[in-house]
Amino acid sequence: MRIVLVGPPGAGKGTQATRLAEKLRIPHISTGDLFRANISRQTELGKLAKSYMDAGDLVPDEVTIAMAKDRMAQPDAENGFLLDGFPRNVSQAEALDELLKSEGIKLDAVLDLEAPEDEVVKRIAGRRVCRKDSAHVFHVTYSPPKQEGVCDVCGGELYQRDDDSEETVRTRLEVYHTQTEPIIDYYRAQGLVVTISAMGPVDEVTGRALEALKSGQ
Ligand code: AMP
Repeated sequence: MRIVLVGPPGAGKGTQATRLAEKLRIPHISTGDLFRANISRQTELGKLAKSYMDAGDLVPDEVTIAMAKDRMAQPDAENGFLLDGFPRNVSQAEALDELLKSEGIKLDAVLDLEAPEDEVVKRIAGRRVCRKDSAHVFHVTYSPPKQEGVCDVCGGELYQRDDDSEETVRTRLEVYHTQTEPIIDYYRAQGLVVTISAMGPVDEVTGRALEALKSGQ
């Protein structure tokens, strides 16, 4: 399957993407994770991306699209992928369409995770991520680690992402409404959008997502 995941920051896209990708046996491709990997390796791309990410803005399309294309061209993505955080505006969606068209393939679904704004702000403010593996995500109240500041899975250090500060979150939400939400209408016109609520326990949301993808609604 070829799936795009959309939803506001804090809706749980990363958490759900990891689980869905495992269940569906497709690679989880997160442009945010790819940028963060570049930042830790201190590449030129990482340096460029960091300034935009810290401000809560989108990294310019040209580099983002090139990076996403490069990742989708890897052999593990040949038969499917789950895109998390890409596309994030209509021009990225158009670039993705062109790429897929040139390869004679199509998206199967765009999964839209819905969550109220006050909830996503709470989720982001308490989010803590493992330095060793960004798929290991905790929340200070909703899913606290056994030992404060330490990842239950691998013992890595937990930290708060630079762009999870309250001020940056406001910008990210604004960017989501103005730039990313329009892609939902773009894909709705192609009959691809399935919307589910991102509220409730993580397992329940995953179950809801799998059901929705199966039935296409
Ligand atoms: P995420 O981990 O998906 O929340 O992304 C974190 C940050 O990375 C975003 O706030 C953007 O600054 C940047 N980013 C991730 N994906 C994209 C994208 N498709 N286009 C532009 N910027 C992106």
